[in-house]
Amino acid sequence: MRKGILHSYERFFPLTERTPRLSLCEGDTPLVPLRNMGRELGVELYGKYDGLNPTGSFKDRGMVLAVSKALEEGAKALICASTGNTSASAAAYGAAAGIPCFVLLPAGKVAVGKLAQALIYGARVIAVRGNFDRALEMAREASREKGSLAIVNSVNPYRLFGQRSASWEICDELGDAPDWLVLPVGNAGNISAYCAGFEFYREIGRIEKLPRLMGVQAEGAAPLVKGSPVDEPETVATAIRIGHPVSADKARRAVEITSGQFLSVSDDEILDAQKMLASSDGIFAEPASCAPLAGLVKLRKNGRLPGGLRIVLVLTGNGLKDPDSAVSRVDLPVEIDGTPEALAEVLGL
Ligand SMILES: *Cc1c(COP(=O)(O)O)cnc(C)c1O
Repeated sequence: MRKGILHSYERFFPLTERTPRLSLCEGDTPLVPLRNMGRELGVELYGKYDGLNPTGSFKDRGMVLAVSKALEEGAKALICASTGNTSASAAAYGAAAGIPCFVLLPAGKVAVGKLAQALIYGARVIAVRGNFDRALEMAREASREKGSLAIVNSVNPYRLFGQRSASWEICDELGDAPDWLVLPVGNAGNISAYCAGFEFYREIGRIEKLPRLMGVQAEGAAPLVKGSPVDEPETVATAIRIGHPVSADKARRAVEITSGQFLSVSDDEILDAQKMLASSDGIFAEPASCAPLAGLVKLRKNGRLPGGLRIVLVLTGNGLKDPDSAVSRVDLPVEIDGTPEALAEVLGL
């Protein structure tokens, strides 16, 4: 039975007797064989389907630990700056913990679709005049001033610690690490967490080798590929639209010690990959989550994808969070008269 990551990996987390074991039954997500895309690419391909977490993204893995530790340390409320999956997750765990959650977002850039979750979970959503960096700075300041207000952005170290659980689940299921792990990179926390998780598993003898970590960015927001920050990042993949990654140094180290690589893909390649993943293997992931598949397709096209590798793609978020970008790429429904003849014509039978 699913009990949540604080139960399944209790011994591996910095928990004490006084840490509440919050759970929305996050984690334990399926490692889905992507048979059709795998055949197409000539590799053994799996998708770690983290869009099936309680709020639809991997953010729940870090949030459950961050909020549990905040409660242990006496927090009376949560605060974060976000316009996307972090706010949804913080709001849900705030609700489960029974404490208020404040979400700061840049005014005028309110994507109502992505905020619906934060609102329905009952977060207090505040629009700040200024950009995202300003909102984050304000959240940090507020939390510094008021000790009982816990900041749950990824500057909170427990977030990355909780996210290690995904690497452990993959190894437990495969019996070893895959050859490659390919994932989208925004603030670069997740790639750093995977690296730390795999290193830990190697240390305790659960795996022999570290997988190659391949971090995929969008061309318009690719500071780690370029080697310098991007001031006005732009991409359809909003979850990785980040120009100054908080965990850049850790991510560079992760790629270095695993002989991995950073690569970038265009928005077109991301949206093509999204449609490919859905129509060939039946999984609908949000655009950021499809950057890894786009990256593999690109490597294959350039003759740089060795055959036969065992590869895991991290499908970080659920496609239903951002239906607009998906609908922009598909054939819309045809309209017909309500007669059997009209239907027969469309069915071509
Ligand atoms: C947060 C997020 C990312 C980026 O993860 P980082 O840790 O910021 O690199 C990618 N995809 C989705 C769906 C996300 O929510």
